[in-house]
Amino acid sequence: MHKAKAWNQPCPNSNCEHYQLINRGNIRAISTYLTASGKRRIFQCQTCGQTFSETRDTVFFDLRTPEEKVMLALKMLLVRVGLSDIGFVLGVTEATVLEWLERAAQQAEKINHHLLRELPVTQVQLDELWNFIERKRSAHDTPQGESVAEATDGRQWIWISYAPQFRLILATVVAPRCFESAVQLIQLTAAIVLGVPCFFSDGFSGYLPALLEVYYRLKPFAPTGKRGRPKNPVKEPHPDLVYAQVIKEKAQGRLKRLTERVLCGAERLKTLGFTISTSLIERVNLTLRHALAPLVRKTWSFCKERVQLRRRVTFFHAFYNFARPHQSLRLPLLAEEVQTPGLFQRKWQPRTPGMAAGLTEHVWSFRELLTAKFEPIHNQSISG
Ligand SMILES: [Zn+2]
Repeated sequence: MHKAKAWNQPCPNSNCEHYQLINRGNIRAISTYLTASGKRRIFQCQTCGQTFSETRDTVFFDLRTPEEKVMLALKMLLVRVGLSDIGFVLGVTEATVLEWLERAAQQAEKINHHLLRELPVTQVQLDELWNFIERKRSAHDTPQGESVAEATDGRQWIWISYAPQFRLILATVVAPRCFESAVQLIQLTAAIVLGVPCFFSDGFSGYLPALLEVYYRLKPFAPTGKRGRPKNPVKEPHPDLVYAQVIKEKAQGRLKRLTERVLCGAERLKTLGFTISTSLIERVNLTLRHALAPLVRKTWSFCKERVQLRRRVTFFHAFYNFARPHQSLRLPLLAEEVQTPGLFQRKWQPRTPGMAAGLTEHVWSFRELLTAKFEPIHNQSISG
């Protein structure tokens, strides 16, 4: 019998000892079936006998629409085509497109959850991108026109943390511009990076307290020898925490001056020799702005609208990291890799942020983005 092929398909039977495990030699392709999208495989787990389709647990599972059409809709969502336009072009309802988006966002979350872990990131750029949901001012605004934490309408910001060394988007949050949102972004970031990276942002005042909420040490008070309750320990910045801002002064819409301000860890920053910058994350924000169609609508509740924006941002997050080669990450091909015949010479190897960070070895196809399967994380660490 020939060797079992690596199908990257886990057994979906929760009673099987190979449940959710990938490439353990138990999965065999036993037949094919014809769908609107072409031939698809049927697999069988040799351990428990369970058969299943290759689209099982993917975005395409049990959809009657051809995969090409679903992919077109999702691609259009990434290039600023409005929902009603997508519906018109593809002859489907907006609700259907949003159902596909929901599946894609769930898949994107799975990808982020499995791959964005223990990242050796030394610098993080932080930024917030303004957007609004339903109306420009929430019914519950602060005097500055910002929505409060509980508000689901009004100004909603897309918060992003970014690792410039890999061009990798680390975490995203869709929420009002307030302390709670900043803390959430820092917590999500801290959970997936190793150690304490250096943080850089614009002059927004909310990040320092948020960073101190996550990266701190408790300093106990020395006993005074006096009677009475000892003083509570105070929070002080983690000794490795570095945080610096780039403050832009503009006059008549033009940049007049850039000022740098180190708010925490000046000594460590000097030792590390990093440049204080937010320019790369500003490029990401621009890319994201080109991806998202305006979100002002009249028909949905505010809450639903924010959920939709979150899903779009989550999907963009995974797409950007794994399926979208980044120009500045490409590598020149070695002389022997350049093929001689033909007019068109490929000189570069395209690379994605995920490749630069060592999380994957190839540029993912769009279909792969929607169908990649993973083993549970605790299994991965056991099997190495
Ligand atoms: Zn099985």
